Amino acid sequence: MTHYHGGGWSDGKIGKGVILAIIDSLDWFLYEKFGRSIIEDVFSGSVEEFKVFSSADKTSPSIATILTGLDPEEHHVFSTQNAKESGIINLPEFAEKNGVKSTVVMERAGALTFLKILEMVTPVEDRENIVEFDEDILSGVEESVEGFKFIVCHLRTLDEQLHRGESVEKIEEGLERIIHSIINIAREGEFLLIITGDHKCHGNGKPGGDDVPGTWYGGLGSSRRNRPEKSRKEVRNWKSK
Ligand SMILES: [Zn+2]
Repeated sequence: MTHYHGGGWSDGKIGKGVILAIIDSLDWFLYEKFGRSIIEDVFSGSVEEFKVFSSADKTSPSIATILTGLDPEEHHVFSTQNAKESGIINLPEFAEKNGVKSTVVMERAGALTFLKILEMVTPVEDRENIVEFDEDILSGVEESVEGFKFIVCHLRTLDEQLHRGESVEKIEEGLERIIHSIINIAREGEFLLIITGDHKCHGNGKPGGDDVPGTWYGGLGSSRRNRPEKSRKEVRNWKSK
């Protein structure tokens, strides 16, 4: 667990809400290569960093695990259609049922599956221009900060650019734009920000594993600042605390 101290945007208070940003294909390898330094460039507040084992190598089952805490063989969500039909309650739905106004901002079909319980979601139309797609996701998050306490979003630029074989520079630039934007939105709204990946990045034959980062930013409170620091926590599938 890595801590960065000083200048957290909540002055020791828990944030007004939580943004959970799932960055598609942001695995531990890419996080260490690009993600951490991008964050360090723009953020000097409290950070906790976890290494998390992803539950699958595809998007739908991984996101379902992040949002339910269940393994794929338990939640059986391998597609958007499965998500639509699933009777298992997920994190934003659980929060909503317990009086925490919650919403999701993601690709249209995926977003609509949450309407079983959530009152409002922001569906974003898929398109060829993935940078523009993520800009719409980020605008949707920004617009949700006023009315919601828990916002889940799914950003896809990194995954698409990796699949398209874009250059390292372009991939880093794309990731930088997303991370800067989401940090700014969280900071403006005084929200706690959680960034995670869903699974290892596909292709490239790089040495990687099934680990993805789970990082918490801002609003972590002053009490944590006096705790002895540990280097890193490893948890499986978000089940362990
Ligand atoms: Zn994915």
